[in-house]
Amino acid sequence: MELNEELFDRAQKSIPGGVNSPVRAFRSVGGAPRFIDHAHGPYIYDITGKCYIDYIGSWGPMILGHNNPTVIKAVHEAVDKGLSFGTPTKGEILIAEEIKKIMPSIEQIRFVSSGTEAGMSAIRLARGYTGRNKIIKFEGCYHGHSDALLVKAGSGLLTFGTPSSSGVPADTTADTIVLEYNNPQLLIDVFKKQGSEIACVIVEALAGNMNLIPATTEFMKTLREITEQYGALLIVDEVMTGFRCALQGAQSLYGITPDITMFGKVIGGGMPVAAFGGRKEIMQCIAPLGSVYQAGTLSGNPVAVACGLTTLKLIQEPGFYERLGETSKQLITGLCNVAKEVGVDFSAQSVGGMFGIYFRDRCPTSFKEVMECDAQRFTTFFHSMLENGVYLAPSIYEAGFVSITHDSDVIEKTIEASYKAFAQVKSIHS
Ligand SMILES: *Cc1c(COP(=O)(O)O)cnc(C)c1O
Repeated sequence: MELNEELFDRAQKSIPGGVNSPVRAFRSVGGAPRFIDHAHGPYIYDITGKCYIDYIGSWGPMILGHNNPTVIKAVHEAVDKGLSFGTPTKGEILIAEEIKKIMPSIEQIRFVSSGTEAGMSAIRLARGYTGRNKIIKFEGCYHGHSDALLVKAGSGLLTFGTPSSSGVPADTTADTIVLEYNNPQLLIDVFKKQGSEIACVIVEALAGNMNLIPATTEFMKTLREITEQYGALLIVDEVMTGFRCALQGAQSLYGITPDITMFGKVIGGGMPVAAFGGRKEIMQCIAPLGSVYQAGTLSGNPVAVACGLTTLKLIQEPGFYERLGETSKQLITGLCNVAKEVGVDFSAQSVGGMFGIYFRDRCPTSFKEVMECDAQRFTTFFHSMLENGVYLAPSIYEAGFVSITHDSDVIEKTIEASYKAFAQVKSIHS
């Protein structure tokens, strides 16, 4: 039996489903996940020594490619000084200042260890600041797995959310309103009815957890205007898009200034760092200054911060995002051309260093349209690519990521592998 399968069987005996985060388990595409042993640049190597071009990049953080020597050196230096002190460190000031320098909307920022924590804390802060309870989120957007945000739309258009996980009491989600993404009119209607009760709206400006769906300009503009009008806070979740789709994140692409922004993924450079920040007046409501409680034993961990800070410095090199954007473009253009040549319905798009591929003739603009993508064709495509050394996210609901180490040759190799994969899709599914 192949070693990956053997390890997967063994993992399942001690770890639920064999994984510590569900999407890693390959449930939607079937088969055994690869157990990765090490990585370098754009490549990851499984336990059998097989090499793959990596388009997951640890789900976003590895924007510099794996094992960037400058980052590794900074981490080694931090490790040599001690792993964790539970006291303030200078590195925390430096990373806060670095983010403030890059992001005009951030006046103060607090660091946590995961995007989930950032989301949970940002919501609590918005509720504490406004003294209101209701929050609005959008169908298909993911903001971590805290109770109030694990919600799906109920029946009907203007309903309160129902928990999307068991173990979440309906009471906990009773104040979460779930609306359709990219539907400004719905938002206006809800604010007209209950605007004075709404603490905040939380949104991914480029939704990256229902594959990749950019918000429309009108939607983002409405969001900013209506929240301001009713005194609700706008929380833009840039855990995925921050320092990924552009240096200054999705908010810079839409020209909007959120009240609170969430970060994660790239800001840790592969170590557990996330954060939420925004206007000083709001941020000062957090303990120890204010009455909104928030804390973390390992928050601002010195080793993780050294990794994140070094990553943030390196991505500011001139031309970094131009190159990253061209890399994604080369990839999606190549894949679309092959699909057309072979005769498979396929579309793709990219923003900066993130991309979406869809087994559908046009790029989707809503959660509903993502649901209409052909999962079986994707599964065939995914396994063929994997077999041929290309590691894509194992689900039609995930975006893909390139790093600065994905050069033209790496992209060409990927496009070459896609000939076989598209041909297989064509022969099996038509
Ligand atoms: C990944 C992600 C999160 C959750 O971050 P974790 O570190 O996995 O808890 C939240 N929001 C968005 C947009 C994400 O992509």
